[in-house]
Amino acid sequence: SAESTKDEEYHTLIKDTERSRGPGDTREFQADTRKLLDIVARSLYSEKEVFIRELISNSSDALEKLRYVQMKNEKIEDSNLDLEIHIATNANKKTFTIQDTGVGMTKEEMVQNLGTIAHSGSKAFLDSVGDSADNGRNIIGQFGVGFYSSFMVGYKVEVYSKSMKPGSVAYKWTSDGTGTYEIAEAEGVQRGTKIVIHLKGDSSEFCVDSFVKDVIAKYSNFVGLPIYLNGKKV
Ligand code: ADP
Ligand code: MG
Repeated sequence: SAESTKDEEYHTLIKDTERSRGPGDTREFQADTRKLLDIVARSLYSEKEVFIRELISNSSDALEKLRYVQMKNEKIEDSNLDLEIHIATNANKKTFTIQDTGVGMTKEEMVQNLGTIAHSGSKAFLDSVGDSADNGRNIIGQFGVGFYSSFMVGYKVEVYSKSMKPGSVAYKWTSDGTGTYEIAEAEGVQRGTKIVIHLKGDSSEFCVDSFVKDVIAKYSNFVGLPIYLNGKKV
């Protein structure tokens, strides 16, 4: 049946085969990014669930970009993969995972996109906070601080990515959201991006399937590609 085909696809997509090779390099965040992360990590903002909106929106962008490249008939890494977003919760490991088969990132793109503040919402947020970091903790959700919002709920965030460029090497980016991040070569990674959030004690609702399902339902209507939660289409 269609159902069982989807189950197989689920298993081929989120399969936990990703591993870093060796410790990699440790790098420092830009000063602005550090400041932003510091506010995000200590956020008192009550609607922490907006991180899901931000991550779905990034996956959706990455998939739309891939779809555009496909239309131009260019060669693509792992060209057999369907364009999908998979979200998984793991209550034992206390993790929230989102994976897409979009354009992915090269090492340079990970350094540039995840280590500096390019995102307009993040810039506007920092400007409006000014010198009073305490203000920022309550208004984060209004700006949408993009990828960095993961650190509202995660004490550690791991990003595996493999670019669509044929023959790309995959990388793992890891950070606890304090001053530095680590970047290492990785294996067992499919084209696209997989983000694993290790949840803080006060955010453990995000490893509960039923809770996450309702949050996804709020934000998924702008996404033109299928979203699966723990293998089931949302
Ligand atoms: P924005 O989406 O506004 O650019 P974000 O902080 O949400 O800001 O993301 C920063 C950048 O990181 C994105 O512009 C994109 O280049 C990269 N990125 C984030 N998530 C993904 C993803 N799932 N796949 C590919 N690139 C991504
Ligand atoms: Mg974004």
